[in-house]
Amino acid sequence: MTDSTDFHFTDYQPYDFANRRHIGPSPSEMAEMLKVVGYPTLDKLIDATIPASIRQKEPLAWGAALTEREALDRLRETANKNQVLTSLIGQGYYGTITPPVIQRNILENPAWYTAYTPYQPEISQGRLEALLNFQTMISDLTGLDVANASLLDEATAAAEAMALCQRQAKSKATAFFVDRECHPQTIALIETRAAPLGWTVIVGDPMTDLDPVDVFGAIFQYPGTHGHVRDFSGLIARLHQTGAVAAVAADLLALTLLKSPGEMGADIAIGSSQRFGVPVGYGGPHAAYMAVKDAHKRAMPGRLVGVSVDARGNRAYRLSLQTREQHIRREKATSNICTAQVLLAVLASMYGVFHGPDGLKAIAQQVHRKAVLMAKGLEKLGYKVEPETFFDTITVEVGHMQGLILRAAVAEGVNLRKVGDTRIGMSLDERTRPATLEAVWRAFGGSFKVSDFEPTYRLPQDLLRKSAYMTHPIFHMNRAESEMTRYIRRLSDRDLALDRAMIPLGSCTMKLNATAEMLPITWPEFSDIHPFVPADQALGYKEMIDDLSAKLCQITGYDAFSMQPNSGAQGEYAGLLTIRNYHIANGDTHRDVCLIPTSAHGTNPASAQMAGMKVVPVKARENGDVDLEDFRAKAEEHAASLSCCMITYPSTHGVFEETVKEICEITHRHGGQVYLDGANMNAMVGLSRPGDIGSDVSHLNLHKTFCIPHGGGGPGMGPIGVKAHLAPYLPGHPQWHGGQGAVSAAPFGSPSILPISWSYCLMMGGEGLTQATKVAILNANYIAARLKGAYDVLYKSANGRVAHECIIDTRPLNASAGVTVDDIAKRLIDCGFHAPTMSWPVAGTLMIEPTESETKAEIDRFCDAMLAIREEARAIEGGKADKENNPLKNAPHTVEDLVGEWNRPYSREQACFPPGSFRVDKYWSPVNRIDNVYGDRNLVCTCPPMSEYAEAAE
Ligand SMILES: *Cc1c(COP(=O)(O)O)cnc(C)c1O
Repeated sequence: MTDSTDFHFTDYQPYDFANRRHIGPSPSEMAEMLKVVGYPTLDKLIDATIPASIRQKEPLAWGAALTEREALDRLRETANKNQVLTSLIGQGYYGTITPPVIQRNILENPAWYTAYTPYQPEISQGRLEALLNFQTMISDLTGLDVANASLLDEATAAAEAMALCQRQAKSKATAFFVDRECHPQTIALIETRAAPLGWTVIVGDPMTDLDPVDVFGAIFQYPGTHGHVRDFSGLIARLHQTGAVAAVAADLLALTLLKSPGEMGADIAIGSSQRFGVPVGYGGPHAAYMAVKDAHKRAMPGRLVGVSVDARGNRAYRLSLQTREQHIRREKATSNICTAQVLLAVLASMYGVFHGPDGLKAIAQQVHRKAVLMAKGLEKLGYKVEPETFFDTITVEVGHMQGLILRAAVAEGVNLRKVGDTRIGMSLDERTRPATLEAVWRAFGGSFKVSDFEPTYRLPQDLLRKSAYMTHPIFHMNRAESEMTRYIRRLSDRDLALDRAMIPLGSCTMKLNATAEMLPITWPEFSDIHPFVPADQALGYKEMIDDLSAKLCQITGYDAFSMQPNSGAQGEYAGLLTIRNYHIANGDTHRDVCLIPTSAHGTNPASAQMAGMKVVPVKARENGDVDLEDFRAKAEEHAASLSCCMITYPSTHGVFEETVKEICEITHRHGGQVYLDGANMNAMVGLSRPGDIGSDVSHLNLHKTFCIPHGGGGPGMGPIGVKAHLAPYLPGHPQWHGGQGAVSAAPFGSPSILPISWSYCLMMGGEGLTQATKVAILNANYIAARLKGAYDVLYKSANGRVAHECIIDTRPLNASAGVTVDDIAKRLIDCGFHAPTMSWPVAGTLMIEPTESETKAEIDRFCDAMLAIREEARAIEGGKADKENNPLKNAPHTVEDLVGEWNRPYSREQACFPPGSFRVDKYWSPVNRIDNVYGDRNLVCTCPPMSEYAEAAE
């Protein structure tokens, strides 16, 4: 028994450990780590790491950190201020049902949402298969040869399609034709993209206004935004005669019933896969798709999954044709896209697997039937319904009754679309119920029952689909829920995501995505809001966006934020356009030079090119810093036409450069603006602010620093912050009337994932965020210290410190033992790790970023693995191990290696259980090392036929 005098109440609150949720090392572990790094306290380490000249003066202050419960209560209160009505607004966003088996096992499953982009294909076979299913489904439905693994949204995909038309056209024309039946946001984005590139956009009726001689390409919407279903075959043939390229923006559900764009002769199809099970979420995230004819595949933007073989000749998936991408091609890349919408593409692909072609067709037929019933009721009331034939969307002329009917519908709980000043539009969907039809009829003054009408078809006869689609067995598996659950589980088990091990990818900030932050994203009050609802139905979103923007302003030292860009690269593009618009408004129309250090992320030059700028590279010094002399010289040389510079801070070499303020001053002195790439903000939050350093605009990657999970390659959010003088030039949106050109389909990009970043800020408080930054720096410096002697850290500050990441040099191992950076990356898989960032920003190096969320134990496990790899290389150096037949060259090892005869000069034990790996929880790579060259030479981007599966299994 306890003596009552011994009893005391502790201050410890079991759920009140905001900092410990996100911060890996415990206080005692931090003390040990600081000893290894050689500093008495965390603050002393930080003082030595961050130059005093750029330190933030005031701490972040917005009240105390909330506990998990308090934060969720706050989110709940905010969510309740959004009103969930039934939306028949359409315009690219439709009601859909996420099958629960998919919601729980993918959307809410960290094995899927915490994965990284599949650059290390051996540990990404599961999501690569899901993406190959996506590509196969898209390619089948559109009737085109090759589909990519997602783009950011339908409108940006349309802008990408225009750029692709321009690259591929034989016509030398400089104008692009846009069907006026395209969604308004699609037209807006095409106009935004065309302006800086000097292309003219002609918007009109393709049947009367399109002269193929005038254009390098054209885009048509199918079905049109107001419901028209037209045949473009004749127009496309005429475009081809003049060497122009034709694109069709197509609705995937409609394509299950209607002739495909490919069958009309289209070169390109784009669109959204949102209505395949992905909630509207006030605008996103959703996966857009793009499919092209074979002739255009090498010019296509975005990631492309392909089939290759591994070292045993077994089938394996990987990303194909990566040489098209910005990280290699830079300003000559096909686009700036980096983070795309992988998780959403996976969701849509599983919706396809779940329903199969018959299920999808049945859903489409039901949607069409509801639209016909709706039309019949309205016609009975005397309204003229347009068009005569349609799929899911109809438009009604209502004259001066428009406002009255729209309000009456809202009173009935339904949002309809305001079209011009006298018409009303509506799009029916998978979720529309009989009661919804009856409510709309009441709003129009009718009191019918659905059973009063006979459903008939009003699809255009000559456009009915006759071709088959989704014939592959994957879309015909037994869909008992036990099978679906196991298929999803099998795929995720093949992958290595954050739920199993740290992912030390430099510059990618793969930190914790806390469960409490994830919970609200599937609440209907966030996920079921159409992006174009009346403002008073989204007051919760407004409150969240305003508060998050205010906090980001405080964190960055900027004055205004735009939440529109839905990836980091899109943020760069938006920020550069903001600068461009500012110069133009000041009469400086000639300012188009953008200075970019050679070490910059590939998206920087690619975005600058898209914004119509001339990229002038600036040298890096031996130590990785921007070469100040070269910078000064280039700035002077281009002073008259200088638009801006684009720098990354802390530098891509993981160091806080002392000269950053001077770079800003030089740029400003010559009339330029400073774009600071804020992807590395995890090293700055609470300690240093871009706005104070002298930068004018930055994007933040909320999917890095602010806890939105990477999703295996998206979603992301790349909001931009600006100083006050640039605020008037931020992106606008057609939905807002006015402002500059829109850069995303929805006004706030992908707002349904903002609760993640907002609750992170709320649960950390200013103090917690600052502590996270400090620990991220400690963790990186600890790794640098532990690997000392085995590997050289390439770049350090004058006093030997790194920021939140460190680059280690593996080139000496290549020289002494023939061990490449690839060998190390693959051997790390045997140890149970995802490799650090490879060969960027310097070839033959590894860039390690542990983030604050990793514990000392996990970091030690990683360091042990890296040190053991060094010893394996040493064995080769000393002649104790074979130069070719060794664990590094043969990595990763699979179960296949263990069966049969073992005739290698090292043991199975060494092969499969190197330091770092777990015995019981061992991660087994599902494939041996993948042959990249084979995959590009024999390009296959759809599911291989079943006969090949059988062969692979033999
Ligand atoms: C990640 C990153 C980007 C691009 O962000 P995305 O969201 O992938 O488009 C840009 N710059 C740097 C330095 C980055 O690390």
